[in-house]
Amino acid sequence: AAAGARVRLEDLPLRENLRGKSPYGAPQLAVSVVLNTNENPHPPSAALVEDIAEAVADCATALHRYPDRDAVALRTDLADYLTDATGVPLTYENLWAANGSNEILQQILQAFGGPGRSALGFTPSYSMHPIISDGTETTWLDGKRAADFSLDVDYAVGEIAARTPDIVFVTSPNNPTGGSVPTADLRRILDAAPGIVIVDEAYGEFSDQPSAVALIDEYPATLIVSRTMSKAFAFAGGRLGYLAAAPAMIDALLLVRLPYHLSVLTQAAARVALRHSAETLAGVAAIVAERKRVTAALTAMGYDVIDSDANFVLFGEFADAPASWQHYLDHGVLIRDVGIPSRLRATIGLPAENDVFLDVSRALASTDR
Ligand code: PMP
Repeated sequence: AAAGARVRLEDLPLRENLRGKSPYGAPQLAVSVVLNTNENPHPPSAALVEDIAEAVADCATALHRYPDRDAVALRTDLADYLTDATGVPLTYENLWAANGSNEILQQILQAFGGPGRSALGFTPSYSMHPIISDGTETTWLDGKRAADFSLDVDYAVGEIAARTPDIVFVTSPNNPTGGSVPTADLRRILDAAPGIVIVDEAYGEFSDQPSAVALIDEYPATLIVSRTMSKAFAFAGGRLGYLAAAPAMIDALLLVRLPYHLSVLTQAAARVALRHSAETLAGVAAIVAERKRVTAALTAMGYDVIDSDANFVLFGEFADAPASWQHYLDHGVLIRDVGIPSRLRATIGLPAENDVFLDVSRALASTDR
């Protein structure tokens, strides 16, 4: 046994609000078709791999020094990208970066949440929002989504008025359901919110809805737009998330970030990945086309597929979703049971992977699922 293995979690002086909670736990299994964590299925091109290797070799000569604490060059590149993508003029002062958007969200909650404060989200949504709230001892307030998984804005505005949360999470497109929140609805939420509104746009590039970035100048004291290079940029392993907001919001995050949180290697590799954005984002169009093909095929098999603006689909209905999840796995396809009764979520993969997923789905549809 490992040293110290006689001590169990229950024996430790854990903070009360963490007792009995479960960690984030998407299974990481070695199967041939992995469609469970909404990664981009396109690996980096040979040219990108070569450029990253060169950039890493260049900066390795200075690894005895700390990185640029404020990551200004990277933030400048991110601002250029986001300006290009959204048409909204941004500078590095509007951008902040961290190790994945999970760290971005954690820093926001460290600065604006915490003991005595609350965060409201509309579930089912991204499972880390309540987990990060727990980790920062921010009281999680659970709001609901409509029966069709859309966000009912009248209800949302009512919840905000009644519960006066310090932070509101809006995920657009929403994970795990796929739909976006229209700008007019976002405005109503921003008008109603007494504190911070985080719009989590991790899947923004897969959607043709306008980004909330366009609203930053109108709501500088309220709005933070969180984004990531994990999905569209096919850089999940590189760990680079970012946000766009008014410069003062970033001044707030500087108070809680750890110094030198973004390594020299991360900053260099992310800048190279951004230089290759045109080629990477061409892959996004291919994923969107595959999403449409997979949606149509599942629908033709009799499945109910929730309209998705992202790189995954939530579908059903299954009499026993965990058993069906296992059936996919037994046939070499790892998808996600997000805990929604009778539904499962599948990431859009490469065409051949989607074909395997559709074959298993077809066989399952013809039995008594
Ligand atoms: N937000 C949403 C909605 C997500 O689905 C994810 C990843 N599954 C993240 C944030 C975090 O991703 P990362 O830390 O890789 O940027």
